[in-house]
Amino acid sequence: MLTISPTTSKITTTHHHHHLHHPHTYRHLTSHRPPPPPHPHPSKPLRLRRPFQISAIDAAQPFDYESKLSKQISKSKTLKIAIVGFGNFGQFLAKTLVRQGHTVLAHSRSDYSAAASDLGVAWYSNADDLCEEHPEVILLCTSILSTDKVLRSLPLQRLKRSTLFVDVLSVKEFAKDLFIQILPLEFDILCTHPMFGPESGKNSWKDLPFVYDKVRIGNDESRVARCEKFLDAFAREGCVMKEMTCAEHDMHAAESQFITHTVGRILEKLNLDSTPINTKGYERLLDLVENTSSDSFELYYGLFMYNKNAMEQLERLDLAFEALKKELFGHLHDVLRKQLFGTRGRSLQRPPALSKLPPNGNGLALPTGSTESESKSDSATSAELLCCAICTMAYETNEEGDNLKASAYSSLV
Ligand code: NAP
Repeated sequence: MLTISPTTSKITTTHHHHHLHHPHTYRHLTSHRPPPPPHPHPSKPLRLRRPFQISAIDAAQPFDYESKLSKQISKSKTLKIAIVGFGNFGQFLAKTLVRQGHTVLAHSRSDYSAAASDLGVAWYSNADDLCEEHPEVILLCTSILSTDKVLRSLPLQRLKRSTLFVDVLSVKEFAKDLFIQILPLEFDILCTHPMFGPESGKNSWKDLPFVYDKVRIGNDESRVARCEKFLDAFAREGCVMKEMTCAEHDMHAAESQFITHTVGRILEKLNLDSTPINTKGYERLLDLVENTSSDSFELYYGLFMYNKNAMEQLERLDLAFEALKKELFGHLHDVLRKQLFGTRGRSLQRPPALSKLPPNGNGLALPTGSTESESKSDSATSAELLCCAICTMAYETNEEGDNLKASAYSSLV
């Protein structure tokens, strides 16, 4: 140990060795010594009466305290993450991030201070205060529709220039474009979509897909490490990590997620009830209704509005339903025609029913070459024919003609 032992050591304000500026280092240098007596002449430079000791190990280290500390931080597995938008999904993510040991801060339009404190999250009702905490990651969990407004309202100038911005929006091209448009070049951008929510991921995230696109991550080692650390929060929970472009995500999500939400919402309108003889399939439908109805309508509307592939999927769903009805009525029509006319009816050939829609991306044209409106009018024609046939049968066989006629009409109109 090397001892500097002048009888007095001078510390003045012009001293620039940053060891002495750092509070922890200063504490280290003085912690084992009694405090100096009060300085009798404040105008004169402070002179320490006791010998001032510096251990050689401190003086000779190639790295100073701060660089060691920053190395430790980059080696540590935890991050300081600020969640902006602390609604349903923001709180759901916070639970796991806190459990993993990350420091989580939150801010939202509404007051979630109580929920935050229950979750062990530091609550900031003011966005300026939140940004002045210099989080390493800003995690945007705002609704799709409000993200533009929220992002523009954040005091970006209060953040460190290297902050990593992450979003979890269910539409990705829109989020990516917004980030690129609004954020200064110094900020890193990671677009993600956890393909699960508070219902489907309530017990575990194991084997659930997590999509991400490293839109803009600086080459600096610490920036790369920070991004990996964030992704690791999902990987270590067992998520299936899928790296793909935002455009690829939106194409797949419209085919899968948007269709799922739409079917769930259609079924919800039927007010389905559990029965004493539920099949496994029916149980799954009830689960689907529960899963999709727990999400806000705003989320569903965002999936439709901000994914350019969603409209095509809605049209395809509509066509598929019409085609299926047409197929059913066509078969029934055949049976009735045979009963009515015997073999004489064979000469009237029914046009082939549409069995499947062309695959995605092949446009909406039906294979028969008919247009959507033609297909609808075809189905109306066969429905009318079917109705007439049922009525004719009813009259001919003297069954309760009027009732049958009425129910035939009501089921077709
Ligand atoms: P959401 O209805 O899509 O979003 C609710 C959040 O948006 C709340 O934090 C709310 O803040 C904020 N918000 C809404 N309008 C706002 C406005 N005008 N100004 C400021 N903030 C506004 O429901 P969510 O389920 O929590 O989803 C959040 C995000 O996660 C969405 O982008 C969604 O696509 C994505 N995501 C959701 C799921 C899921 O299963 N739920 C899964 C993956 C990804 P306040 O509550 O403070 O009003």
